[in-house]
Amino acid sequence: MSKKENGREKEESLQQDHWNMNFYASGVEVLNSVGCGICVCSSDDKLLFANEKFCEFFYGRIDGKNVKRCLFRALENGKKNSGELYIKEAERWFDVHRTEICWLDQRMVELYTIYDITEIKRYQQKIEKQVNNDFLTGLYNRMRCEQDLEEQITRTKGNGGKGALLYMDLDDFKHINDGLGHQYGDVLLRAISHSLQRISGIESNCYRMGGDEFIIIVTDSKFAMLDKILADIKEIFEKPWFLKGADYYCTMSMGIARFPSDGDTVQELIKKADLALLEAKKAGKNRYEFYNEESEGASFKRLDLEKNMRNATMNACDEFEVYYQPIVDVSKPDNPCMGAEALIRWNCESLGFISPAEFIPLAEYLGLINPIGDHVLRQACSHCKKWNDSGHPEYKVNVNLSVVQLLRNDMADRVREVLEETGLNPWNLTLEVTESLAINDMTRMKQILGQIKKLGVRVALDDFGTGYSSLNHIREMPIDVIKIDRCFIEDLGQDEFADAFVRIVCELAAVIGMNVCVEGVEYQRQYEILKNMQIQMIQGFYFDKPMRAEEFEKKYV
Ligand code: C2E
Ligand code: MG
Ligand code: MG
Repeated sequence: MSKKENGREKEESLQQDHWNMNFYASGVEVLNSVGCGICVCSSDDKLLFANEKFCEFFYGRIDGKNVKRCLFRALENGKKNSGELYIKEAERWFDVHRTEICWLDQRMVELYTIYDITEIKRYQQKIEKQVNNDFLTGLYNRMRCEQDLEEQITRTKGNGGKGALLYMDLDDFKHINDGLGHQYGDVLLRAISHSLQRISGIESNCYRMGGDEFIIIVTDSKFAMLDKILADIKEIFEKPWFLKGADYYCTMSMGIARFPSDGDTVQELIKKADLALLEAKKAGKNRYEFYNEESEGASFKRLDLEKNMRNATMNACDEFEVYYQPIVDVSKPDNPCMGAEALIRWNCESLGFISPAEFIPLAEYLGLINPIGDHVLRQACSHCKKWNDSGHPEYKVNVNLSVVQLLRNDMADRVREVLEETGLNPWNLTLEVTESLAINDMTRMKQILGQIKKLGVRVALDDFGTGYSSLNHIREMPIDVIKIDRCFIEDLGQDEFADAFVRIVCELAAVIGMNVCVEGVEYQRQYEILKNMQIQMIQGFYFDKPMRAEEFEKKYV
């Protein structure tokens, strides 16, 4: 080969190298400008190439040696060719793909491409959260509860463990909602949810089922902590909540069903915990009850009660009869009758006679107290109008109002309509209300009672001494009559406190121009003691029991 030829060949080869290098350089430039990370690893786990994006994704987080191991893990230890990778430190997710290619030196190597899918992932999580979480409180919702419960039941059945379902309902939440407004009800629900989630052992197993109902699942790994969990939940409700400038107490009732012993399906467990919850409500609220089979009979009766009550309410309330218990005027000679308190009785066709103490709380709970209460009001007003027209224009009738009715926006309108309908003189109607903790919002209470009083109707404070009444409150409240509860009368003559309480309330009432009515007088000795105090009205078995309207009319009209 001539020198000249040799030189040309060298030049050509140099040109080729130069061209190769240029090609390589622009190839790298191309790879650096794509949006995904690219790397090439040799079979002995060396990083042969990584584009800029790849370095950016991994920079400072995974050193060269670990890259392959990390990618490999995302592919389920190399079993798959694509998978997902989460880099905790950067809080980012990546889609990882692997293919084999032939490298520059003809070796077979692995090419990895990774795509940042963090935004998609976050969006997905947001959607999942919306599907699984309750918008107001951020707790998981009913759907998620049922899913988790199903899973827990299967697990405990599989490993022979135990778990519990706690079904919780706030007591008289409606009063707070109606009394203070929904926005404060919401604040309370959020605060309660927050406190629940901070209880150790149930952090991620609290669910809001809707309204003021919550479920808590105690999983088998936490079942040994059940007593402590119950105590912690109880503690939340022992302190007041600061709402709208005042302290409010809110209690809860709870029913507990254990799985799998009480049931091994989602529906059955929720139903049984709910039955136990209603037992807790019936036993006086602010407590928890465990589901037990013996009370199931009673619970079924309750379900029956509910069904029958709905039917009775739909059928024009025919089964509800209003009885009347005379109230006598002991400030006049011979203690004449001055009217009566209307007391509802339910003569249920299929369940027999049911006392108001048993069904009124349920009617309140079911929201049926409004139609039932309207029925009592109408009956009582029309009966009293009849007595007034039959020679006793001074007879008055007392009608009990539940707090639920009292907080109705249209209660005053309803009373006005019934007065117009029956033609009763408003002065002869007294509405009995009880104090409720939930309406320690005096402004609201005064406003509602004020509207009622504007109609000319009188207001009595029932069961005085048993609730949260403070003597100071009665001065502020627009009331005409204080009804001292039976429990003080029972102890009259035997307990100095009871004697002093009745005397002081009577003296105080006289000073502020209110009347006192004493309830539950059964014996002569009680009557004798009361006669010496400034009392105008007495109601009790000593004088007469509650009776049907016809009987009352025969005896007193
Ligand atoms: P309340 O308003 O305090 O009514 C007085 C209760 O004491 C009545 O019980 C009455 O029968 C009973 N009682 C009266 N005198 C005596 C006595 O000398 N000794 C004893 N041991 N008891 C006496 P009742 O009729 O069973 O009603 C219980 C409660 O149910 C009532 O207490 C009231 O809170 C509620 N209630 C009754 N009717 C209605 C109604 O129409 N609407 C509402 N919301 N509640 C009602
Ligand atoms: Mg009453
Ligand atoms: Mg009473």
